[in-house]
Amino acid sequence: MPELPEVETVRRTLIQLVAGKRIDRVTVSLPRIVQRPQEPEAFAAALAGQTIRTVERRGKFLRIVLDDLVLVSHLRMEGRYGVYGQDEPVELHTHVIFHFDDGTELRYKDVRQFGTMHLFAPGEEFEQKPLMKLGIEPLDESFTLGAFKQALAGRTTKIKPLLLNQEYVVGLGNIYVDEALFTAGIHPERTADTLKSSEWQKLHEAVRSTLERAVDAGGSSIKSYVNGQGEMGMFQHQLLIYGRKNEPCSRCGRAIEKSVVGGRGTHTCPSCQKPPRPKPAARE
Ligand SMILES: [Zn+2]
Repeated sequence: MPELPEVETVRRTLIQLVAGKRIDRVTVSLPRIVQRPQEPEAFAAALAGQTIRTVERRGKFLRIVLDDLVLVSHLRMEGRYGVYGQDEPVELHTHVIFHFDDGTELRYKDVRQFGTMHLFAPGEEFEQKPLMKLGIEPLDESFTLGAFKQALAGRTTKIKPLLLNQEYVVGLGNIYVDEALFTAGIHPERTADTLKSSEWQKLHEAVRSTLERAVDAGGSSIKSYVNGQGEMGMFQHQLLIYGRKNEPCSRCGRAIEKSVVGGRGTHTCPSCQKPPRPKPAARE
């Protein structure tokens, strides 16, 4: 599943490819991708004549900003955008096509069919699903150590599922949570209320630096991730712990372990990330 760096890469690529293009018409061949409005005909009719002004991002969602509308798009597992000439053959699993009046097309392809599109009046998108409950943007100035601790500290939930929960901090998925926790030296099964002040500081820095490095590298390509221009991401070689089961830890040399935390495959170094101690009977 694309995480913040991959979506950011798609965003940056899409701006170059489609900003300034005017939509002539829209074809929807898999209605369930379009969640709002529910009728694909209404979706297509609203978009006809609109020009794409810019492409922004909120968490793992793209916000395609048009003249009078905002299209909120989530790629979920396998969603891809690509720009093609209108004469190029349409690939299998292409579900939505935005036909531009310059003869090119923005095509949305999604083998797994889990992606979603919601259309809103500008500003309205932040007050409704799916964007309304999203937490802090980790690459934004608002992601201060104070705001991070305020969102998570004191909770008795394990830190990994907390970081995955988009209502607190957005953009992190399974890969970058494992990377950030390893970088900070924190075991994913520690509960948030057991983290020391110095650990919050390390984790805050690790979340930001992990995502920044990944964005700079153009998003990772763990499976078959391709950005809007068909370029593969280059970050996979730089992952420190994710997908490296049994390989030596880059810091201490011990074999990296894989376990399941909160239902998700999780990579840890047994010596760099100390597992939680059993809880004392009463709090001090
Ligand atoms: Zn280690």
